Amino acid sequence: MGRVKRIAILGSTGSIGRQALDLIRALPDELKLVALTGDKNLELLERQIREFQPKMFCSSVKLDNSYGGEFLSVEEMVSHPEVDFVIVATAGKAGLSPTLAALKAGKTVALANKEVLVMAGEIIVHEASLHQTQILPIDSEHSAIWQCLQGEENKPQRLFLTASGGPFYHYSQPQLAEVTPEQALQHPVWKMGRKVTIDSATLMNKGLEVLEAHWLFSFPFDSIEILIHPQSIVHSMVEFMDGSLKAQLSWPDMRLPIQYALSYPQRWPNPELPRLDWNKANSLNFEPVDYDKFPCLKLAVDAGKSGGTYPAALCAADEMAVELFLSHKISFTDIATIVQKTLGQHQNISQPSLEEILAADDWARECATRLCLDHYKQPERPSNLGIER
Ligand code: MG
Repeated sequence: MGRVKRIAILGSTGSIGRQALDLIRALPDELKLVALTGDKNLELLERQIREFQPKMFCSSVKLDNSYGGEFLSVEEMVSHPEVDFVIVATAGKAGLSPTLAALKAGKTVALANKEVLVMAGEIIVHEASLHQTQILPIDSEHSAIWQCLQGEENKPQRLFLTASGGPFYHYSQPQLAEVTPEQALQHPVWKMGRKVTIDSATLMNKGLEVLEAHWLFSFPFDSIEILIHPQSIVHSMVEFMDGSLKAQLSWPDMRLPIQYALSYPQRWPNPELPRLDWNKANSLNFEPVDYDKFPCLKLAVDAGKSGGTYPAALCAADEMAVELFLSHKISFTDIATIVQKTLGQHQNISQPSLEEILAADDWARECATRLCLDHYKQPERPSNLGIER
């Protein structure tokens, strides 16, 4: 199967990072962990370091270094000659600078952090092409599209991104306004981090995935469609010029897209990956998406079409709004309102530099927080911020 791939994982204690480590554990002849970073769950991070004994690690907190690992900055780590393959499994803008450093050093980058492409798609794609290296998708929908494209000479005409619809797809508007953080954190299919679970419930996650697909496959926004598919068995589809559709199906398990990125262009056997049981998956349903009920989806796609610093402002406003929702400060439907109002006040910069993108992120965080504070200074207003459609 070729020589062992030497892996760096950024964000090893998160959901994707832990599943990538499961694969490294299961495939010791193919994969070796040489570097990791983590920040939030210190106890787990130290356990991972003791188990895998990576040559390099990075964290903002002081760690046990008794076995002799080298403490480096993330940028030094991802560009180190002993790293072949970088898995970016951090959340939000934290992935931006390390991804750029890895691409500049010519490393293959597997991206689970969708904000990297959403915020700075043009810069990231340009760097990858300049240094003749690859960005491989780990997101299940994009992995599906990528797998469907293998062996095809012609570009498809349409991409269909599937969405489970989250736990509240059939809720009415008044029911949505009453959704609690505890309810929203219970995703019916996927087990994920808190931010992406809430983004899945608002469908913001699917909107960000449209932007991600646009950059990964250089595909126009108007040819990317969303289909609600509650079973999450068909992970996405492509349609070719002759009307033929190709789809990738599997049991929903993130280890498969992570492993495909690691094994590409091969496939590796792994008995730990589940097989589809057709007794359980005996019906597959698809329906068009309701853009009116889930305004975050349209906000994201519109920000992508407008380009410039809008997508960075969208990501930052959403991150703040999700935090405010999780701490019971705003309602579920207020998330879209905060994002919409922030974008409404944003002064766009086209073809921004990385610094301008990061400045737009800072600005949008402040703006979203101020919008929430302004609202709660006026208790006579109704509890819902009032969505403007
Ligand atoms: Mg996804």
